[in-house]
Amino acid sequence: DRTLLLAGNWKMNHDHLEAISAVQKLAWALEDAKLDDSHCEVVVIPPFTDIRSVQTLVQGDKLWLKYGAQDVSQHAPGAHTGEIAASFLSRLGCSFVVIGHSERRADNHETNDVVAAKIRAALSAELTPILCVGESLEQRQDKSHVEFTLGQLDDSLAGFDANDLSGLVIAYEPVWAIGTGETATAADAAEMASAIRARIGEKYGDSLAQTTRILYGGSVKADNVAEIVASADVDGALVGGASLSGPDFAALCKAAV
Ligand code: 13P
Repeated sequence: DRTLLLAGNWKMNHDHLEAISAVQKLAWALEDAKLDDSHCEVVVIPPFTDIRSVQTLVQGDKLWLKYGAQDVSQHAPGAHTGEIAASFLSRLGCSFVVIGHSERRADNHETNDVVAAKIRAALSAELTPILCVGESLEQRQDKSHVEFTLGQLDDSLAGFDANDLSGLVIAYEPVWAIGTGETATAADAAEMASAIRARIGEKYGDSLAQTTRILYGGSVKADNVAEIVASADVDGALVGGASLSGPDFAALCKAAV
């Protein structure tokens, strides 16, 4: 049983005041749509500076939605200027942390080794990692996309065993589909999700393969989400642009369930 997971990665959008309004509107719209945690898990992933405000609202109003962070330090607390420790995020009530997003891999030179270290840090603070993998347009065109994406998966999970990884979420986000309006077809998403699940099974056993949630991300909207999550191996979506407005994200969630 893999609960449908709809996670909104706000990227560098919404300051903490805008965040309060966006989450409040999301909560109202989910209520209007008669959605609750019996239908799906809904997660907002705001910038670090918003998390305290989101915590206050979610806990104060006893909202059922969850929240997380977009990145985490690989280091324990100490002399690492500008970094945010995993333990700080769990103290703020975060459930999830996105690790290895393609924008961080590209803009901040995050390698698979760094990604693996961040996953280790997240797990030690009891945060659920959302590990992002996915190929570029060139790799898709020369048909090396499956090999490349599985290679990223292998290297990002190097050194872990099945016990470490229970609860792990993997997001397949083809770089060419992010923020471009270009969505992978449901068949493309399904192909990669099943390849990822098969690889998890080969390396860690069937039980982990059957419980690991695999999301698709890249230009997911209310009008294409249903088709994408209809595939047996696609357990939800990691949503950028369409998660910024509370009502839009609630409509997307409604369309997905
Ligand atoms: P868009 O939904 O804006 O394409 O972003 C996808 C993404 O990168 C989510 O992490």
